[in-house]
Amino acid sequence: MLNKFSDYIYYMPNQDENDRPTLGLVSGEQYSLIVDCGNSTQHAKDFLNEIKKLNVPPIKYVVITHAHWDHFLGMNEFDATIIVNSQTNKLLNVWQSYKFDDSSLQTYKQSKLMGDKCIEIIQTEIPNRNQFKLNAPHIIFEKTLTLDLGNKLCVLEKINSTHSDDATIIYVPDEKVIFLGDCVYGTTKNSLFHYKKSLLLPMIEDVQKYNAEAFLLGHESICDMEEMTTFWRDLRAASKAVNSSSLEDALESFNLENNRTPNDDELFFIKAFVNDYIIQSL
Ligand SMILES: [Zn+2]
Repeated sequence: MLNKFSDYIYYMPNQDENDRPTLGLVSGEQYSLIVDCGNSTQHAKDFLNEIKKLNVPPIKYVVITHAHWDHFLGMNEFDATIIVNSQTNKLLNVWQSYKFDDSSLQTYKQSKLMGDKCIEIIQTEIPNRNQFKLNAPHIIFEKTLTLDLGNKLCVLEKINSTHSDDATIIYVPDEKVIFLGDCVYGTTKNSLFHYKKSLLLPMIEDVQKYNAEAFLLGHESICDMEEMTTFWRDLRAASKAVNSSSLEDALESFNLENNRTPNDDELFFIKAFVNDYIIQSL
């Protein structure tokens, strides 16, 4: 089942149990556009089967929000123009050289090019994977690109992100909806989950310049304005409190500034910003 946001926007909610991110569908009068292609052939097929039940114009474009496997491995199922920013394209170029048979997967596992979950999904949800080869994107843009689906514009922009260096957002002005992919999340390096402090404020600015009222996130589905405002507030407060790799100092600074101890979300973010300092000192 797809969730309906409006007559023009649907989405398939994330399914955490099998690492499936949120997938989006935006339709205009002439064409439809897909946001992210799923973590596998099966995920993409499931999405396409649901779209078939709707009476929407043909899919002309597919936008990949960033080059993490769970957002693009279903790409080959779409008979459409695949669009990515130039940084995502560079990362996808590497994946186009990969093979997906067991012995190749084993090599990638050992060299840490692919994680366990990625390999498990490939093995179970990409049939004929011994012959599988990832397609190349068709349109590469640098900073922004605006598409017209027929009286329905979609604005694509590569923005600053705490999650990856290649984040594309898709904003639909008519609907005041923004697809954020994973851009507002943190990331993991050397087994440490961290939030890149230097990119937090530039990212918030990049997102807030759009007049969005609904926010679709890669692993959360949909957030309204109030939820996003709380999310930004918690992140900002946590970031402000952290100025070194000391968790103790950060907690003290948070208490001084806010006259209270952090809530669970704030504490989670504080630890992630502390980890950012730890990673930089490695
Ligand atoms: Zn990601």
